[in-house]
Amino acid sequence: MYEESFTDQTSDIDSEETVTRQADKIYCANCCHCKLVRSSTGKDNQYQLRVRCDAGMWKKKLGEEKYYKYFTVARRSTEECEFYEPMGDTKTFLKELKKTLPIKDEIYAF
Ligand code: SF4
Repeated sequence: MYEESFTDQTSDIDSEETVTRQADKIYCANCCHCKLVRSSTGKDNQYQLRVRCDAGMWKKKLGEEKYYKYFTVARRSTEECEFYEPMGDTKTFLKELKKTLPIKDEIYAF
């Protein structure tokens, strides 16, 4: 259901073309149901950032809720979703999001 085809681009031109080609898909990052949450590492008040779908659409095979690492959020896409509620223009949103996303799974402290 979810594709991993949205790759990080190193040049602005490539990035722009990628976003344009894929703007007709639904990107979960641009949906109001995609929520950023803190997940404790269990050590020294540290946490990592995760995203979840509060409409309950992200599930593991056995039915448990699935969380994704925040730095991968731009890759979460689907062909259709009955609960999709966009927060803005997809192309603009993804372009701005990519400027601020961490490049790896960072550890933060409370
Ligand atoms: S409601 Fe649908 S489009 Fe929105 S975050 Fe969940 S799976 Fe993605």
